[in-house]
Amino acid sequence: MNSHMAITRGLELEWTTAQELYRFAQRLVQTPSVSAHEDAAAALVVEHLRALGFADVRVNAMGSVIATLGTGDGPTLLYDAHLDTVAPGTLDSWPHPPYDGVIADGALHGLGAVDMKSALASMIYGARQLLPWQDRLQGRLVLAFVVQEEPCEGLAIRYVIEEDGIRPDYVLLGEPTDLQISRGQRGRVMFKVAVTGRSSHGSQPQLGQNAIYAAARLIFAAQLLADSLPKDPFLGPGTIAVTAIHSQGSSLNAIPDLCKVYLDRRLTLGETVLGARAQLESLISREDIPATLQITTYDEPSYTGLVRTAQEAHPAWVLDRAHPLVEALQQTIQVVRGGAPTIGHWPFSTDGVYTMGQAGIPTVGFGPGDPDLAHTPREAVRLEDLRTAAHVYAGLAARLLLAE
Ligand SMILES: [Zn+2]
Repeated sequence: MNSHMAITRGLELEWTTAQELYRFAQRLVQTPSVSAHEDAAAALVVEHLRALGFADVRVNAMGSVIATLGTGDGPTLLYDAHLDTVAPGTLDSWPHPPYDGVIADGALHGLGAVDMKSALASMIYGARQLLPWQDRLQGRLVLAFVVQEEPCEGLAIRYVIEEDGIRPDYVLLGEPTDLQISRGQRGRVMFKVAVTGRSSHGSQPQLGQNAIYAAARLIFAAQLLADSLPKDPFLGPGTIAVTAIHSQGSSLNAIPDLCKVYLDRRLTLGETVLGARAQLESLISREDIPATLQITTYDEPSYTGLVRTAQEAHPAWVLDRAHPLVEALQQTIQVVRGGAPTIGHWPFSTDGVYTMGQAGIPTVGFGPGDPDLAHTPREAVRLEDLRTAAHVYAGLAARLLLAE
């Protein structure tokens, strides 16, 4: 047995520590943190990190929490989890109330249990296992718990890296993978097409130009386009979907002169934001649709009041299967769990659009929870998986930052 293997084995959480981890994840679920309202959750995380003995803990101008372990000048490994959740939606649809943090049948239930408060708590407890080793770390382990990831992935982690000056060599995202490895995702662009027409009285439609009819041609053309989008053998096909339509007219008996159509476009590997835009523009001109196209922007202030504007346009990314970060994570999981993990990709979008997609920092994913349960009222995660995740987070950091 090599020494990394021995160190990793020794980082397993004691039973009592695992109980503290579960209780903390439960408290996080019980603390509402819908995007741009993460203040209470951030305060809870800061207080808990300090109580556990983390000395370097701060909140940045945007409201994200950053904790650093080690001062060595070796590599910097960044663990990224988001503090925010989507809104709970209809409360009746939840089998357990979203903010009760019910623990039943060995699982934690509630909003954020899967996406992604369990990973956040497990990262803290994984790093906690390394506190006794922190003077021997050759590099640094940075925990970045960011805000506003759900509405605009990449926004807050970009701030941590570009404005707070943390320059990671490796990034691990704790988005749910059900304890398997993710090494990529498709990109995402949100287009808004404003189709214009000319108003007339509803009794004399021939005198106007109905913006809804023109929008219908666009929608039909987009549906046809969907079948011809390129496929990547690993990430799958690019997709396009109309997700909202809003028309506008002076009354219900007037011909509408404006119809806004929103299109969710997922980019597979090889597709670019510019290419997808040009494709849609040429479709609009081919169909002779009077319309202007734009990429939507996100500009909600953070809970601290900071406004960072970003276009909702994110590239696809994939980390090479043979990259040392993938290898290190795979070996760590194998030591912790015994079996080999599957290596796949996420169906949804993550902060990797910035860390790997834009900044080119090797990025990989590993987290507790079934990704198919994210953004559903059935969010629940097996408690034992939190303990396993914390152990893997500790082991990976030890493998990358401790000398053998
Ligand atoms: Zn998430």
